[in-house]
Amino acid sequence: IVPQEGFLITPDFIRPFLPEKAFLSNKISTGVVMIVAGSPAMTGAGLLTCQAAYRSGAGMVIWATNPQLAPLVKTSIPEVVSTILSDNKNSFQWEYLPHHADEICKAILQRKCRSIAIGPGLGSSWSSKYFIEKVIEKSPVKGVIDADALNAIAVNREFWKNRLQGWILTPHEGEMGRLLNRSASSIAENRIAASCALSQYFNCITVLKGPGTIVVSPQGEIAINPTGNPNLATAGSGDVLTGIIASLLAQGRSPFISAVTGVFLHGLTADLYQKQSPQLLASDLASYLPYAIKVVK
Ligand code: AMP
Ligand code: MG
Repeated sequence: IVPQEGFLITPDFIRPFLPEKAFLSNKISTGVVMIVAGSPAMTGAGLLTCQAAYRSGAGMVIWATNPQLAPLVKTSIPEVVSTILSDNKNSFQWEYLPHHADEICKAILQRKCRSIAIGPGLGSSWSSKYFIEKVIEKSPVKGVIDADALNAIAVNREFWKNRLQGWILTPHEGEMGRLLNRSASSIAENRIAASCALSQYFNCITVLKGPGTIVVSPQGEIAINPTGNPNLATAGSGDVLTGIIASLLAQGRSPFISAVTGVFLHGLTADLYQKQSPQLLASDLASYLPYAIKVVK
């Protein structure tokens, strides 16, 4: 990887890549996204990721839901199509198991999903880590790896070396530290170098979050995001970003362009929202997103 000079993302740069529904489009041709997120303890992570994917233009969002959450999903976001994973016969608390990965891969093909987002709120048990690795290994489509899915990759990083081509990893500095087996403070010292190291190691697109989010491709392209503000430091805002990027991917944008466009819109939404209100919730971010898209258009 030969790092090129970084460029600052601008409205002019992302304008051609914004969500746009063609005259003859239907909900399938527009783009279907598979969301693998949320668990009984962290349901909101799944809801936010789904909501953000719809608000950034996906034609249909499929949520691989566990049976305990299915009724709640229907009332929270009626637009979500759920793939209900099989019940665990012998355990008290429902958990993700390896055979759920096969159910998800089957649903991806049946529902014609063009991208996947995996990670937010899945939990950090060994069972969910193993399940996550199975999904990434077997999935017929690529997409965004975030949160608990990053931690699952980090535990088995040697195995995943060079195997994540076409995938987008969206760590904050703590997750980045675990992925590179270094301290978070050493990441903060040189964020661009760390991002290049991650892209090189896994052959993936890297989105290193935080003020001045960095997007790096394995070819050495480096983009710096000027949008966003400290109001984004709120639970769930990363889940919204994951949904946006996966949605753009499903709409046919390349992984690098999806990441660049996604981080700019995510930050811009927070900047526009700040003019109206000093307090941002992640759910506001998802609802306000179309406004940011309109401003750039
Ligand atoms: P996460 O850490 O996964 O919840 O993601 C947080 C999101 O908010 C990322 O997109 C960060 O880039 C963004 N964010 C958090 N804090 C700030 C900040 N102080 N300034 C700008 N963006 C931020
Ligand atoms: Mg996060």
